[in-house]
Amino acid sequence: MPKVIILGSSNAIPTKDSENTHMVLVGMERMVLIDSGSNPILRFEQAGLDFNDLTDIIVTHFHPDHVSGIPLLLMDMWLIGRDKPLNIYGLNYTIDRIEGLMGFYNWSEWPNFFPVIFHRIPTKEMTPVLDCPDFKIHASPVHHFIPNIGLRIEFTQCQKTMAYSCDTEPCDEVVRLSEGADVLMHEATGDFPGHSSAKQAGEIAKKAQVGRMYLIHYPTGKYAKRKLVAEARTAFSGAVALAKDFMILDFSKRLPLSHFGRGARRNNSRIDKIYRSEP
Ligand SMILES: [Zn+2]
Repeated sequence: MPKVIILGSSNAIPTKDSENTHMVLVGMERMVLIDSGSNPILRFEQAGLDFNDLTDIIVTHFHPDHVSGIPLLLMDMWLIGRDKPLNIYGLNYTIDRIEGLMGFYNWSEWPNFFPVIFHRIPTKEMTPVLDCPDFKIHASPVHHFIPNIGLRIEFTQCQKTMAYSCDTEPCDEVVRLSEGADVLMHEATGDFPGHSSAKQAGEIAKKAQVGRMYLIHYPTGKYAKRKLVAEARTAFSGAVALAKDFMILDFSKRLPLSHFGRGARRNNSRIDKIYRSEP
């Protein structure tokens, strides 16, 4: 503790081995889900976590691959009799639509629903989202098709920092959000409007002078592209690896070499190349 568990690493088209990109932060007091585009109940079970231990959900933006699991998660928490509150954070654009989505399910008439507290984040750089003994989380708007946020997460006990670009074109906001972070988790969908290629992610990592980078939200299965890591390394000389489903980043320890090396973790068997460096 604290740790980050990647629950999905794929772009919008998932495969059996790679779900839509989302992750959970596990601390001593809080468990924070970042997006939920798949079946959250199964993902939590597979990760060895209890979905009812979630205290907070940060929703980056209202695209189906980032929000479609939320109604099922809320309903299943209600079905098992949850009574403790759940915090949901997002931009106005996002929260309006989550409330609308749940409205279509008529959730206001589900009896004895537990308290859901919506926190509307202003659209400005480095907005504080959550401050607790486990994490300090800030959000900055990034450049996507709809309003969207990237996150900077400080693990307060070990003073490590992880930045997450979310879905975005290369932009100065992500550079500032990531500045000097120990880890940058950057999307690598491809060189399209609203997204970034692996090389562009590498350019951001270099500008922000991060310690190491994981690529996430990349094409998988029959749409997979080879050599994403090598592509990123043409711009960034630090350690680069692909984020994989169920990969664990334990910020209380030195981050494991196995993510950047061969074979130590079952989900990392297809890492493009061996890199050996420490933050
Ligand atoms: Zn998106």
